[in-house]
Amino acid sequence: MASALSDRLGRIVKTMRGQARITEDNVQDMLREVRMALLEADVALPVVRDFIARVKLKALGQEVVGSLTPGQVLVSVVQKELAATMGEVDADGKLKAGASEINLATQPPAVILMAGLQGAGKTTTSAKLARHLIEKRRKKVLTVSADIYRPAAIEQLKTVTAQAGAEWFPSSASDKPVEIALAALDYAKKHYFDVLILDTAGRLGIDEALMAEIAALHAAVNPIETLFVVDAMQGQDAVNTAKAFGAALPLTGIVLTKLDGDSRGGAALSVRAITGVPIKFAGTSEKLDGLEVFDAERHAGRVLG
Ligand code: GDP
Repeated sequence: MASALSDRLGRIVKTMRGQARITEDNVQDMLREVRMALLEADVALPVVRDFIARVKLKALGQEVVGSLTPGQVLVSVVQKELAATMGEVDADGKLKAGASEINLATQPPAVILMAGLQGAGKTTTSAKLARHLIEKRRKKVLTVSADIYRPAAIEQLKTVTAQAGAEWFPSSASDKPVEIALAALDYAKKHYFDVLILDTAGRLGIDEALMAEIAALHAAVNPIETLFVVDAMQGQDAVNTAKAFGAALPLTGIVLTKLDGDSRGGAALSVRAITGVPIKFAGTSEKLDGLEVFDAERHAGRVLG
């Protein structure tokens, strides 16, 4: 990957050679470069500020030992802090593995509610998740669409559900979203499904009526997972979207889609910071096998460039 920050970091590491300590003075130049890299990766400004402040605090307390230079120590602090900010850490500040799985620990059927703007990738991700849960966790999965505004979206879910090898529950534009969800839940119970994935309507922007509708859906079906699906290419806008969905719904996780695109994926940092919930999966292609458990360490490298 072409690396703006790697070049930058490299330069700074060099200029900091021969200095024995990380000090207020020499840390400033370095942090300016980190800040620019994060802004270039489209991380939201308040999130960048917060991050830089944390790194500075940690870096100033670091001892520079052995053959390391202050620059190398600082780079390592930046990388670790970035991964920790996007991932899940334990009490010792170590990145936790496996924090990203879908939680199914409930009386079946476990309901997964998909939330996000139109075009974020909810329908595609619904089918990807169905496939994942069938293949990796041997679950019996039902999908349903409550998008009564776009009959094509209902058809799209039908098609991709079949491709995923799951079952699709029919719905139509003349039904009410909550009734659709309850009917699907009832069907899932009667036919012993382990999981019901509920795909919902999205709009191009934040919309009060839509937020009220998805909150009503949430109240009706009490999902164990409420996933906020967000396009990695959204950049700065992801912040407002995440705020609105986070305020309307008790989110349990994030799916960051379209990471196969050429964005640096700075949205990951913003949405994680704003919602406070884990990024569970990353979408990496239009195809149904393009879903990966989110890897914060790897993503940190990408954001840094
Ligand atoms: P929805 O409106 O939120 O349901 O979004 P869709 O699932 O219909 O996705 C919108 C578009 O994004 C479609 O063309 C999908 O094929 C595409 N898409 C979804 N996820 C990904 C992804 O991870 N990578 C790529 N390249 N395209 C994706």
